[in-house]
Amino acid sequence: MVVVELKPFNEILKTVSPFKKLTVVGCEIGSGRCLQGGLKEAREVAQFLENNGKEIVEILTIGGTCLVEKVKKLEFKETEVIVSLACGAGTQLIAEETEIPVVTGVSTLFIGADYHREIFVEYCTACGDCIISRTAGICPIARCPKSLKNGPCGGAINGMCEVNNNAECVWFKIEEKLQKRKENFTIEVSFRDFSKSNHPRRFENEL
Ligand code: SF4
Ligand code: SF4
Repeated sequence: MVVVELKPFNEILKTVSPFKKLTVVGCEIGSGRCLQGGLKEAREVAQFLENNGKEIVEILTIGGTCLVEKVKKLEFKETEVIVSLACGAGTQLIAEETEIPVVTGVSTLFIGADYHREIFVEYCTACGDCIISRTAGICPIARCPKSLKNGPCGGAINGMCEVNNNAECVWFKIEEKLQKRKENFTIEVSFRDFSKSNHPRRFENEL
């Protein structure tokens, strides 16, 4: 899932300072799941802005602000600005569909795993060339602080990462898991193909 973090309310207030009449849009998929931008947080943001002299025209949430068909159906009442709590993709889609100024109330952090909605951990950087079939299902690009694809850096101390002392070296974890499965531990020596992550990326389905 895409993990987002709600910006400090005072920062959102500063961003909307030129405007009086506001609409707040939340997203029930990523932002809502993270408890950072669903209906509850949209209401909290709206309440804060109202307490600080803004007029709230509407609070909307849709299940999936990154879905073009849903965003196209959004109809906004007369408002001066839209405060979006959707991820970067969802917020940009809203901005594409309207001439009303759109600002974000969140920062998009990463693609991560959701541990009971309490802790979110980065598991994938969407590198475009997935290698986890060869690394015991553990992604070293996302989970090693140096994003090392071809094996450990050599700085681990007693199996712990030299950068993040509280975490195991991800390459030790990969090796341990492969050894348990009695799979050969061979490190692929190849360069990362950054052409796979040229921005903006595009994927087309043959429908
Ligand atoms: S290798 Fe890692 S970063 Fe790349 S797609 Fe696979 S999980 Fe994501
Ligand atoms: S100790 Fe392991 S996890 Fe930490 S930076 Fe080096 S290779 Fe990456």
